Amino acid sequence: MKRKHGMRTAILLILMSLILSAAEAGTAAGKSTADPQTDPEMTVEAETPAGNGSIAADEKTNAGAESETAAQKATGAAKKEIRTGFQVINGKTYYYSKKGKRVKSKWITVGKGKKKKQYYFNKKGVMLTGKVKTKKVMYYFREDGVLDHTIDRTKKMIALTYDDGPSLYTPIIVKALKKAGGRATFFVVGERVSTYKKQLKQAFDAGCEIGNHSWDHSYLTSLSSASLLRQIERTNEAVEKVTGKTPVILRPPYGSVNSTVRSYAGMPLILWNEDTLDWKTRNTYSTISEVKRCASDGDIILMHDIHKPTANAAAEIIQWLTSEGYQLVTVSELADCRGKMKDGEKYYQFR
Ligand SMILES: [Zn+2]
Repeated sequence: MKRKHGMRTAILLILMSLILSAAEAGTAAGKSTADPQTDPEMTVEAETPAGNGSIAADEKTNAGAESETAAQKATGAAKKEIRTGFQVINGKTYYYSKKGKRVKSKWITVGKGKKKKQYYFNKKGVMLTGKVKTKKVMYYFREDGVLDHTIDRTKKMIALTYDDGPSLYTPIIVKALKKAGGRATFFVVGERVSTYKKQLKQAFDAGCEIGNHSWDHSYLTSLSSASLLRQIERTNEAVEKVTGKTPVILRPPYGSVNSTVRSYAGMPLILWNEDTLDWKTRNTYSTISEVKRCASDGDIILMHDIHKPTANAAAEIIQWLTSEGYQLVTVSELADCRGKMKDGEKYYQFR
């Protein structure tokens, strides 16, 4: 009995955390750029359960459903309990219809409007989490199974990158991205992070990627391997402290790379194929027109969020790229869609 009670508590805890994380959902949800219903690789069928309330109600059913007692089996007299809704079994989450049938190869939609959450259950009925790549679409599910956003792999995409921040101007760019349902990558200088942690957190919470741009913007090629490692590690730790996530990509200051940098980086090295020269012109109009002139599918575009004219260029750049059909993605998302990255390798673009 003791063991059973322990299991019941564990299941209840898992369910409670599911409810809690479901309750806070929706804030970071990006704009869906692809319609999962048109993706032939995933059979789609949505049904709309009663909402969060029904998840809580399922707790009772779930606790008993796991182990049908011998007595029940033997007599067959006791009415069999029907499991419905979300069920966590051996660490995996399933979904059962109102009639108690396990849902397979289906989308489940919970809630409506802004509170709408979509989950996908694969052909074995297991709820998907993390990244799922199909021929046409990249799906990004959160750890609680909620679909965060999708990228249409068959359509144009661009990675806007902003270096040398975070700064007071970072939120201007983040605001423009949120309005358009896009994301960008911010390569931050570690020593600035504690001063501008609020701005950094805003970018992260908006779904942007935070990359490593060294601790103090040194030429990494002039450092010993020990100092180089320290530059990278200190920055990773500073970012992780604010966002809870350690950067997985490095942009070496000045794009300066040698064999020591390559072997000690421990991350892919992200350069760029389009430099807007915003750092030189410090002019909003020039930055905008440079992006419009050079933008092309798979680009990694270089800008700097420590310059106010660059931040002021963001709204028009983002609006224009979106109207031209570009999906604004992070560097890691661009790599997910278009190829793979290896530690110590240099990447300029992903065609
Ligand atoms: Zn820089």
